[in-house]
Amino acid sequence: MVARHDQTTDPELLAALLEARRGTAFFARKLNELSDAELDGDSLLPGWTRRHIAAHIGYNARAIARLIEWAATGVETPMYPSTEVRDHEIHFGATLSPIALRNLFDHSAVHLNVEWRDLPEDAWHQKVRTIQGREVPASETVWMRSREVWMHAVDLDNGAAFQDIPVPVLERLLKDITGAWKTRGTDEGLVVKVTDRELTFGDTTSASPTVVSGPLAAVVEWAAGRGNGGVTAVGSGAAASGTVPAAPKWI
Ligand code: ZN
Repeated sequence: MVARHDQTTDPELLAALLEARRGTAFFARKLNELSDAELDGDSLLPGWTRRHIAAHIGYNARAIARLIEWAATGVETPMYPSTEVRDHEIHFGATLSPIALRNLFDHSAVHLNVEWRDLPEDAWHQKVRTIQGREVPASETVWMRSREVWMHAVDLDNGAAFQDIPVPVLERLLKDITGAWKTRGTDEGLVVKVTDRELTFGDTTSASPTVVSGPLAAVVEWAAGRGNGGVTAVGSGAAASGTVPAAPKWI
């Protein structure tokens, strides 16, 4: 008989799973509030309608489920054959009928949840590979999914805001984003300050940095390239135009 509860007992992992499940429920709520006709509307991502977002989140669950199957069986099953295949799949998915699109989201989310639930404790340490080629333990897939559902719920442009995203998710997102800048060296002369927590990221050794600051949710929104409401900028890069500079790309 299949267990109806998670096989893992790791408290950190269970907390992460809860966050991902809450994010999925949040995304589902924002999606279900939209009428079929409203699915045709623009998302916050340039060139993508809400249909593209829904398709992307559905296929993302399937791709992550493939990594969990890999972890469970040891048989390598990549997320996607290639980024071209992934992109093609999203564009195809966006053309599905509203009912098919909603089913894709619902069924893929349930399937992923079952894969996570039934993955034995030890298999969570099994190494799998992301579409970016990173080798990560299977446990990392929980964060990979969490990040997608929370942030793309905002991208649906249906009233969700970065303020709705839990603080631990926002903090980890900001770490990921500023870490990607650091790896690429694109954060030169740029400091990011979170005013409602004691958090500072970026080029902190710069003598005359541009400092972008604001509350956590606003800073993450800016850093993720989703707008600059709620952040202010001071320093060399900002003074010239008096405006907040665009955040470096991170994906
Ligand atoms: Zn995404």
